[in-house]
Amino acid sequence: MSSHVSESGFRQVAIIGLGLIGGSIGLAAQEALPDLRVTAFDADEQVRIRARERGLAHEVFGDIAGAVADADLVVLCVPVRAMGEVAAMLQGALKPGAVVSDVGSCKQSVADAIAAALPGQPLVPAHPVAGTEHSGPGAGFATLFRNRWCILTPAADTPPEAARHTADFWTALGANVEIMDARHHDLVLAITSHVPHLIAYTIVGTASDLEDVTRSEVIKYSAGGFRDFTRIAASDPTMWRDVFLSNKEAVLEVLQRFSEDLSALQRAIRWEDGDALFDHFTQTRAVRRSIIEEGQDDARPDFGRRDHGGDGGMGEGGTDGGGDQPR
Ligand code: NAP
Repeated sequence: MSSHVSESGFRQVAIIGLGLIGGSIGLAAQEALPDLRVTAFDADEQVRIRARERGLAHEVFGDIAGAVADADLVVLCVPVRAMGEVAAMLQGALKPGAVVSDVGSCKQSVADAIAAALPGQPLVPAHPVAGTEHSGPGAGFATLFRNRWCILTPAADTPPEAARHTADFWTALGANVEIMDARHHDLVLAITSHVPHLIAYTIVGTASDLEDVTRSEVIKYSAGGFRDFTRIAASDPTMWRDVFLSNKEAVLEVLQRFSEDLSALQRAIRWEDGDALFDHFTQTRAVRRSIIEEGQDDARPDFGRRDHGGDGGMGEGGTDGGGDQPR
């Protein structure tokens, strides 16, 4: 074990769950913080074998206590509804004062579940707004978080040093860190990520259920817009089931507003109100322009994805933020 305190203030990080996000943290941390020791746990032996082949951590454990024994930072990278159960497996295994964090796409429910399982342990929930539609130990890559936002939602009683070191860790991985209230995070992500996923899942389902348009026609002419939805709708079913069940209130609130706005557009089409449609589409175009200006996407027709070598899904897939970096 390194005796150095790395740039982030931590000597050892333990990653729990070596899927897309856990694997990417492992690769990015080893690259950016050479003095940091990176350990990891995954319950699945095949995943551990693949993780060792890919060098996702310095040491990959099959027992969770071994992985976290000397860790100063423990990051839970499992589906949001598994966070509480996994945190309970850490009872009695953590160093006193070790910071517990997670990467869940919903923050309030996850923070409540972890805090209930590990009372008194410093907790700094995090959400890297970066991802692809791919999952598992082969999916991660070191540059996933570069120039993406990572939102931290520490509670009011979280020791400031724990939050500061966790922020430094994510900054070292290339992310831009923002501190936010957990409930506000859940509302912001409901509109920017969760409801867009639900719309993609809906439209792709509707297209495949249509009787008068064949499936081969849908695939053949998908470049008309449909294929961009299919990338998002290919995101991991377990992860997204958990996101909707864990952020139920905010998603339902945003969905209500969305349905009203959809009805207004429906009415404009029915009554041939071209001005209403034109004004609406002009406003939405300006939003797209702002996203490109802020460097959160690429203006090229293929979003620059082919050039980057990755197929650049959006994680939260497209989702939880565009993932147009190379693998
Ligand atoms: P992933 O690639 O599917 O990996 C999931 C990991 O969780 C695997 O290591 C898996 O273990 C483990 N796991 C699954 N169910 C479990 C359970 N019941 N108990 C314990 N471990 C379990 O998923 P991911 O995309 O990395 O997502 C991980 C977390 O990151 C989620 O909370 C998600 O909300 C969040 N997130 C995802 C994205 C994205 O775009 N994908 C972006 C930001 C944040 P096995 O190997 O044993 O199956």
